[in-house]
Amino acid sequence: MVSEVSLHPKYPNLFSPLDLGFTQLKNRALMGSMHTGLEEVEGGFERLAAYFAERARGGVGMMITGGISPNEEGGMGSEMSTPEHAESHRVITDAVHAVDPNIKICMQILHAGPLAETPKLVAPSAVKSRLSPLVPNELDEAGVQKQINDHVQCAKMAQLAGYDGVEIIGSAGYLLSTFLVEKTNQRNDQWGGSYHNRMRFPLEIMRRCREALGDNFILIFRIAAMDMLQGGMSWDEVVMLAKEMERAGATIISTHFTWHESAVPTIATMVPRAAFTGVTGRLRKELSIPCITSNRINMPDVAETVLADGEADIVSMARPMLADADLINKAFEGREDEINTCIGCNQACLDHGFEGKEVSCLVNPRACHETILNYQHSESPKKIAVVGAGPAGLAYATVAAERGHSVTLYDANNEIGGQFNLAKKVPGKEEFYETLRYYSRMLEVHQVDVRLGIKVCADDLTAAGYEHVVVATGITPRTPDLEGIDHPKVASYIDVILGRVEVGKRVAVMGAGGIGFDVSELIMHKGVSAAMDKQVFAREWGVDFENHPRGGVTGVIPQVQAADREVFLLQRKTTPVGRSLGKTTGWTHRMSLAKRGVQMINGVDYQKIDDEGLHILIEGQPQLLEVDTVIVCAGQIPARDLFDQVVELGLDASLVGGAYEAAELDAKAAIKQASYLAAAI
Ligand code: FAD
Ligand code: NAP
Ligand code: SF4
Repeated sequence: MVSEVSLHPKYPNLFSPLDLGFTQLKNRALMGSMHTGLEEVEGGFERLAAYFAERARGGVGMMITGGISPNEEGGMGSEMSTPEHAESHRVITDAVHAVDPNIKICMQILHAGPLAETPKLVAPSAVKSRLSPLVPNELDEAGVQKQINDHVQCAKMAQLAGYDGVEIIGSAGYLLSTFLVEKTNQRNDQWGGSYHNRMRFPLEIMRRCREALGDNFILIFRIAAMDMLQGGMSWDEVVMLAKEMERAGATIISTHFTWHESAVPTIATMVPRAAFTGVTGRLRKELSIPCITSNRINMPDVAETVLADGEADIVSMARPMLADADLINKAFEGREDEINTCIGCNQACLDHGFEGKEVSCLVNPRACHETILNYQHSESPKKIAVVGAGPAGLAYATVAAERGHSVTLYDANNEIGGQFNLAKKVPGKEEFYETLRYYSRMLEVHQVDVRLGIKVCADDLTAAGYEHVVVATGITPRTPDLEGIDHPKVASYIDVILGRVEVGKRVAVMGAGGIGFDVSELIMHKGVSAAMDKQVFAREWGVDFENHPRGGVTGVIPQVQAADREVFLLQRKTTPVGRSLGKTTGWTHRMSLAKRGVQMINGVDYQKIDDEGLHILIEGQPQLLEVDTVIVCAGQIPARDLFDQVVELGLDASLVGGAYEAAELDAKAAIKQASYLAAAI
């Protein structure tokens, strides 16, 4: 338990205020820092103001902005170093405090150090990160002092801008953390050598910030409580740093669990919920200031359990508040079944962030687009039929109905969800159930007339007198034009995922897109899904939570259970297999399959399938894969027949999702397109 004050019958800890001495947090829910990309676009601050204000109205106690550089070397697009910079942030802090002056908003100071995308990048030593093409410039004594001064100036300007505090990031492989670790700090002056010296730079920044900002300003230090690096920080070093930070003036310690260079997934959907909170719990026992925990805490019951178990004082739910700005209010009001749950896919948030695109959310395209995409009540409600209850049809139907249209939603299947019903069966994608639970509830809330088990034809729609028909009939799997494609050993991914065919011991998977990877994961899977069990996760990814060796991973050999199968995952392109997967998650899928012994082969020219197996050419050389099953995952084509018929009958109709465009379609594109169309009708 974190508090004796119980304000809520179901979530007494989550809804307890937290006394910071000079001020109070109204509850224990924090929206952690996320770079949105809006920091750098024209009019971005006004959009950020709307984005934060919407989350403030949603009931959160404290929010932290995306990372802002203290100077040019810091390498983020946006800098805070002058009164003019402070003035431009005013719109954000004013908007939040106008909602409720008790809601705290803190600015994150992020100096990317060796990860900065600028030729001016700096670091304690000229050690290149494997994630950057650039070698950092080694700081001399004057350079170190300048960086400290710039951090202090940045914090002062944040205070001037009306922020309630700053979070200084000391993790992830950014500047402060590179001072702490021997591999990146090879200095032998007062800033390097012993751990005591290596801690000096971040501690000096904290100490000087406290001195400059006075007692009544929140200073959060983000620490890599487990950096997931071979030879990374030891537990004693983590504890020592946290204690010294407390002494130097930190108000709160926020735990982080990675460097970007680490080879352990820490936020992807395959990571169990609240996987790392135990580490925060251990650190919390060593300190007398509050601790924030984070990572894959996406529902209020998870947050409440973490707090009740004494693992943290504050729970950070960053991406979950992109997915649903109202998460905290819904929890408070007992409307948990209406929460649009973050599924940890990273597809529209982190992937976009790292690709330099504006951030949003796969399940909520309004995220970061609050001034652009709005679901206003319709002045002229229409009678609308939506055919297909996959992600596109569901998004369209719920948004249109929310706006006051009369919507009937049809699906040939007996359950809503379309291909998400396949996705949710893939080990590591269990969160996809939540999206279907959410939509199922939204259909009730907005009174959509749902008719399942009906394969709609155009005549049915004409007879019913709809004013607009939305065809969201999805896709048909592509069947490659190949000799032997109708051989009995050939199976579609749909039949395999639904367990309608027996899969042999030796398998070729034709096509290495997202579905080829998912199918390979499914057929190589054995035992409990790592996403559902922290111990299995720790074993598979080589993390030792109990003994906490250096970085949490040093010397731990990952152990993976795999099905008794030999699998070849094939593609025609000569690019590395898996290149098309998400930027921040692709590597986890490739590693997961590699650990299970899946052989990934590119540059394949398919010849034929027969009793012997799959005949292929690689670099012109014939090869036979003696497989007993060939699973076709060769992309899709739009299922558009109904649309053509509807148009021929003269009905007003639109196409969404896979039925509109199957190439490069995913749920992100389907939900976004459908939401924008439904907002406009
Ligand atoms: P669909 O989901 O295909 O839905 C179409 C619906 O229309 C179906 O329910 C069908 O029954 C219905 N229908 C068709 N014709 C009729 C008719 N005449 N009458 C009534 N109903 C009809 N995307 C991601 O973004 N991220 C992922 O991680 C991801 N993982 C995936 C994993 C797997 C295994 C699969 C198969 C797909 C995955 N996808 C993922 C892709 C994503 O599911 C699709 O892009 C998305 O479902 C497309 O949505 P849709 O609504 O256009 O079509
Ligand atoms: P995809 O990503 O387009 O991949 C299709 C694969 O089939 C490619 O590897 C392609 O590569 C191959 N192919 C295409 N035409 C072929 C042909 N005629 N013969 C043989 N091979 C052929 O599509 P998908 O895997 O079906 O996935 C569908 C959508 O769902 C995608 O948009 C994907 O992003 C999404 N999805 C996403 C995830 C995720 O984790 N984010 C997971 C699953 C699905 P070659 O041409 O090089 O062989
Ligand atoms: Fe969560 Fe995916 Fe949305 Fe990111 S895009 S917030 S991971 S659901």
